[in-house]
Amino acid sequence: MRIAVTGAAGFIGQAFSRHALAAGAQVHGIDKLTYAANPVTVAELEAQPGFTLHRADIAEPAAMRDLIRRIAPQAVIHLAAETHVDRSIDHTAPFVATNIVGTHSLLEAALDYCRALSPAEKAQFRFLHVSTDEVYGALGAEDSAFAETSVFAPNSPYAASKASAEHLARAWHHTYGLPVMIGNCSNNYGPYQFPEKLIPNMILKALHGEPLPVYGHGKHVRDWLYVDDHAEALWLILTRGKIGEKYHIGGKAETANLALVETICAMLDAAMPGSSHRPHRNLINFVADRPGHDFRYAMNIAKIERELGWRPKTSMEDGLQRTLDWYLARRDWWQGIRDSYAGERLGLGR
Ligand code: NAD
Repeated sequence: MRIAVTGAAGFIGQAFSRHALAAGAQVHGIDKLTYAANPVTVAELEAQPGFTLHRADIAEPAAMRDLIRRIAPQAVIHLAAETHVDRSIDHTAPFVATNIVGTHSLLEAALDYCRALSPAEKAQFRFLHVSTDEVYGALGAEDSAFAETSVFAPNSPYAASKASAEHLARAWHHTYGLPVMIGNCSNNYGPYQFPEKLIPNMILKALHGEPLPVYGHGKHVRDWLYVDDHAEALWLILTRGKIGEKYHIGGKAETANLALVETICAMLDAAMPGSSHRPHRNLINFVADRPGHDFRYAMNIAKIERELGWRPKTSMEDGLQRTLDWYLARRDWWQGIRDSYAGERLGLGR
């Protein structure tokens, strides 16, 4: 299978690309290489047989049309996005440009390409759109988890741009017959995640003895999924999912932010018995809450369990330990980012 993966150099894109390569696919990564694409990740991907990187902006319609025709993929997996909620609050324009305009230009390119395929090739073609739990807004403590039928109520500019993108993907299926499928996933964590996101941010700050900023009261709840489990779910949707359907993906691992940060601190205490920053939990520092901060997200994943036989494999404890070990071992991956952001506020996590 020859597939085009937008955002391949990002956190989930690299995990999905590795998964697809291991399954025997040829992967054509399409990536603008923004700040979120680490050159070390790019070099690792490019060293893999079967992987080709195309540096391109999904928001450029002519370039996308030309590139999709040249790659001639059997599937497009669309992950490229501006992804950090805090950045979306500070600067909205890149979120509209990439997440909405970019998704539109990619859908148009895919449709243009799909229309020129033979009936047999068209029957095989898929467009897998990667969306998020944040399109549904916030849950209260006692509310049922979001189902595929839940109503959209995005609260942050990031969530609104992803909701718009998902609406476009759905409409291109219903109106033009583009064979779209959608995956909505909860918070991912694991190796190769840019250190502005909550878990790597806390690991690296704690390692350096810096204050660990926790928003508000720290009781906000997120459902966490190890990134390789997400990659596996996306592969299953791509290869066995039904056209026109959407699938919820989650870790069944709802955790309050403060409890998560305390767990990371305890793991770091155990990993670094000689550290002068022990106990790391003393570094926790409550800061003013994010404007419009969603209280809780949770995903009902009964549909993907029932129809595709997928379930999260990695427990939160194992996944966090693997993630911590990876960041401790891969200074070569994150030191350049910390140096270039020295003195600047890195985001505080989704
Ligand atoms: P990321 O920020 O780590 O990576 C995004 C990638 O997209 C980067 O490589 C970047 O260079 C690329 N990109 C950005 N703008 C581009 C453009 N205009 N043209 C081409 N490439 C561009 O993001 P991630 O965490 O890997 O998320 C990937 C996707 O999964 C996103 O669509 C996101 O909304 C979705 N998602 C993420 C999570 C999560 O917890 N990380 C959860 C659910 C859904």
